[in-house]
Amino acid sequence: MNDMKHLPNSPEARDIAYHFHGYTNAAAHAETGPMIIERGEGIYVYDSGGNRYIEALSGLWSAAVGFNEPRLAKAAADQMAKLPFYHNFGHKSHGPAIDLAEKLISLAPVEMSKVFYTNSGSEANDTVLKMLWYRSNSLGQPERKKVIARQRGYHGVTIASGSLTGLPNNHRSFDLPIEGVLHTTCPHFWKDGAPGETEEEFASRCAADLEALIEAEGPETIAAFFAEPVMGAGGVVVPPKTYWEKIQKVLNKYDILLIADEVICGFGRTGQMFGSHTFGMKPDVMVMSKQITSSYVPFTAFMMNERFYAPIAEESGRIGVLGHGYTGGSHPLGAAVALENIAIIEERELVRNARLVGARFRKQLESLQDHPLVGEIRGVGFIAALELVNDKRAKSVTGPVGQLGGLMNAALQRNGAISRNLGDAIAFCPPLITTEEQADDLFAIVKASLDDVTRAVK
Ligand code: PLP
Repeated sequence: MNDMKHLPNSPEARDIAYHFHGYTNAAAHAETGPMIIERGEGIYVYDSGGNRYIEALSGLWSAAVGFNEPRLAKAAADQMAKLPFYHNFGHKSHGPAIDLAEKLISLAPVEMSKVFYTNSGSEANDTVLKMLWYRSNSLGQPERKKVIARQRGYHGVTIASGSLTGLPNNHRSFDLPIEGVLHTTCPHFWKDGAPGETEEEFASRCAADLEALIEAEGPETIAAFFAEPVMGAGGVVVPPKTYWEKIQKVLNKYDILLIADEVICGFGRTGQMFGSHTFGMKPDVMVMSKQITSSYVPFTAFMMNERFYAPIAEESGRIGVLGHGYTGGSHPLGAAVALENIAIIEERELVRNARLVGARFRKQLESLQDHPLVGEIRGVGFIAALELVNDKRAKSVTGPVGQLGGLMNAALQRNGAISRNLGDAIAFCPPLITTEEQADDLFAIVKASLDDVTRAVK
């Protein structure tokens, strides 16, 4: 990747020596070395060699307002100067935590009651699962502890949230999933729809699979269903028409709560404030992260309705305390940055921008549909994927999964855009501030990179 790694004491050599990376092939890292990103500017980041890249994934689906928003730097500095840390244990509170909780509840698509603060998306989902157990005990339903997520869903990497995640590499050798976390069908129509089946019929089949799983396990044992409105890390899977309506019907029938993991979809990504708006979901809990602060600081939250909250509050009353909370939960810095970040999203109409520029970009991507290596173009709002195949009729790749995707990812990077291949699907999730011209530039890079890959595999 970078020959600087051979120079002793170079940042590259020291990275190899001392830094253990997430989501990286640790065995290969000594060979490849790191790509060091030095600074950000709008939708661009610059590496240590001075090369500029469009950050086509907003970092990790994160930097909604781009990579150098001065208002967020100021909000953070002001809060640092005024109250750099406080917590919410033992009835303590502070302005930013209160203001943000009120703000988040005002943005929800359904009536919500309370906000709980956490430090990562994984931790938020982990906490929701723990609270579900507490809630079931409070309700006198100790058998209601199982939860259902989906194959290829992504909810994080802690022991509980990694169990909710439905991707093999998050389970393999980690001894996950834990007991009581079940997975149902991934709603990817293009890949898993049967020959002759319509999108609506496939959605009915997904709902029937969910119902069959609930029946087989015993409806009284299932506490909740966890799902992203649009699956992100599992490959940007947009649900088929009528999916959410049919899934929610099953959940309502069995009194099972819906946990919407809005970690990627939240704050405008799907063209409305939340994915739950876009798909008519009525969740009991909404998990929020990433674009809540544009990930300038690690800060996450979930909001819940009374149905979720009331039994938990009662149980803590019986016990005398809620035996749960994080030192950094409700961190004033994160809350202050989140408030400013949401203000920017609203003032600059970035949700509308995501809808308009996203539609334009997806339309351009769709012009690649007839390319022999393109299997599916999918997306909604300003999130999309380009799935590569080399057997177009079979909708699959012959050869190792991820090879084509890896080639495309490398070509994009050479041509000036950073994305990520999820297997052979290339994900696009640019900052919400992206202009039409910048989206056109990104598309030109995508097209040129596809040509490069076509030549390479000939
Ligand atoms: N949920 C979803 C939908 C995510 O995409 C992610 C991260 O990508 C998480 C949860 C986990 O968040 P974190 O990496 O902050 O633990």
